[in-house]
Amino acid sequence: MAMQVINGEAVPAKSGAQMPVINPATEEVVDSVPKAGPEDVDAAVAAARKAFPGWAKTDAEERAHKIREGLAKVRGAVQEIADLLVREQGKPMHEALGEINHFGHGVEFYTELASKMRGAYTALPSALGKAYGMVIPRPIGVCAAIVPWNFPLTLMGTKIGPALSAGNTVVVKPASTTPLATLRVIALLNEGGLPPGVLNAITGPGRVVGEALAAHPDVRRVAFTGESGTGRRIMEVAGPQFKRITLELGGSDPAIVCSDADLDKAVRGVLIGRFWNMGQACLACKRLYVFEDVYDKFMEKLLTGVARYEPGEGWVKAERPKIRVGPIHSAGQRQEIIDQIQDAVGRGARIAYGGRVPEGRNRGFFFTPTVIEGAPHDSRAVKEETFGPLLPVFKVKGIDDAIAMANDSIYGLGSSIWTYNVRWIYKAAQELEAGMTWVNQIHYGYDELPFGGVKASGIGREHGPEAMDYYVEPKSVVVGDLE
Ligand code: NAD
Repeated sequence: MAMQVINGEAVPAKSGAQMPVINPATEEVVDSVPKAGPEDVDAAVAAARKAFPGWAKTDAEERAHKIREGLAKVRGAVQEIADLLVREQGKPMHEALGEINHFGHGVEFYTELASKMRGAYTALPSALGKAYGMVIPRPIGVCAAIVPWNFPLTLMGTKIGPALSAGNTVVVKPASTTPLATLRVIALLNEGGLPPGVLNAITGPGRVVGEALAAHPDVRRVAFTGESGTGRRIMEVAGPQFKRITLELGGSDPAIVCSDADLDKAVRGVLIGRFWNMGQACLACKRLYVFEDVYDKFMEKLLTGVARYEPGEGWVKAERPKIRVGPIHSAGQRQEIIDQIQDAVGRGARIAYGGRVPEGRNRGFFFTPTVIEGAPHDSRAVKEETFGPLLPVFKVKGIDDAIAMANDSIYGLGSSIWTYNVRWIYKAAQELEAGMTWVNQIHYGYDELPFGGVKASGIGREHGPEAMDYYVEPKSVVVGDLE
């Protein structure tokens, strides 16, 4: 059994309960982890609270150094961690290795900022006596990092990187189905020299452990990534306590392909954007709007491209020119995609590619990457988030039509446009209701740029130097009696 990390120690649940972790490609048990309860949350938060004053006072450079020592250990164990990630999550090996690399890059980004945090100085009116003011960034305290199963490591890194670098302590709660790579990484970061209690990890059902963590009175900051519905629940339990909360939620990113687009590049970008991680990405191209004058040509190229994907075990390489995609993460998730397809087809949509379980795949949650045309814009595949390998495509008359349809969603996470027309680029940047717009680029979350959503896609931002602001309180200090 893999162990939780509390106060620098590997610990089981106080109750002794365990829960299995299932391999989505084989449906076999990979390992088990502690099934924690609220009493374990109390222990983890107490350890983080005890460690906070010392960590907050540690020189920023020293903090960064200790985090980097741990990162070196993570990099030394990259293959072992990637194996765990492939087996618990389902993603192909090259994607797992990419995720660990991205995790390291993201955390390092914040260790570099640790000693570069700045405050402010201002002269003050002298009516109450000569004085000046300063604004100093102060760490907040114990932070909760609640992480989903699609990118367990990178989405943890975007939270613990800025939190620890800014001097906070953290309790991480990975998704119940993907705790193994996370626990290993956190154990290695602790071995790298983090003082006990600075970085802890607990495992257990989200509704019990996640909720107890978000609601815990000693947790002052909650960073959550997951479904919009769960985000609402986090607001209900943490909001009334005036905690600092960021929510990175669901998305239904539109991509617009204009008549002047480089169609080969657009096809490649859309395919990666939609089918990376078997479509289970928040930032994924989930609705595609193609100008009518290039629609047929674009579709021909798109369908040739999608036929290259070969669902299979993540630890087995596909033979070129095939590209490996893993299984969908769970039976329930696969059923949801099937239901969304059936709803669209029942209302007149046409399956242009896929839409079925691959032949001979009776075990594992495999599914063929799917493209549908003619789905009504109020069908489930369009209105809801499609968290799997399903791409609905629409023919549009021009830019106004495309932007109006793109904005017809409760979500507003990412968006993209494929064009070289400066006016269309300007219009898309100004008018697409989203936290991000990529131009001639795949939907990718750069560590260097703030990342987050509008509308039902969340509040606050992760990534970029801006993320550090969400892990400090700007404290005003007035120094008076100067003359
Ligand atoms: P989820 O909301 O079911 O779970 C996310 C995490 O919250 C898990 O650790 C889970 O155990 C925990 N949790 C569940 N119920 C809880 C509760 N009541 N209180 C506290 N914690 C609770 O999401 P998921 O299915 O794991 O992930 C997929 C979703 O995440 C998709 O909607 C996807 O778009 C979204 N996502 C968003 C981003 C982003 O940055 N915007 C990134 C990745 C994934």
